[in-house]
Amino acid sequence: MEVRQRRAEKVGASAEPCGVCGGSNVVAMRSRAVRRGADWLNPVFDPAPRTHDLCRDCGAKHRTENGLRV
Ligand SMILES: [Zn+2]
Repeated sequence: MEVRQRRAEKVGASAEPCGVCGGSNVVAMRSRAVRRGADWLNPVFDPAPRTHDLCRDCGAKHRTENGLRV
């Protein structure tokens, strides 16, 4: 089992504080899977970007969709 590589980039500051530590040092991130090797032959490979908020104080991640936490 191979760990899927993902590339993440900062897309801005989050509007919401961290749900774990309450800190406001939270950035919105977008990541997507890096397609490689057999992925090119995989018809169900989903490279759709995913977004999450990342707390830079405690490291917690909060998954987001369309800018809202889920
Ligand atoms: Zn936090």
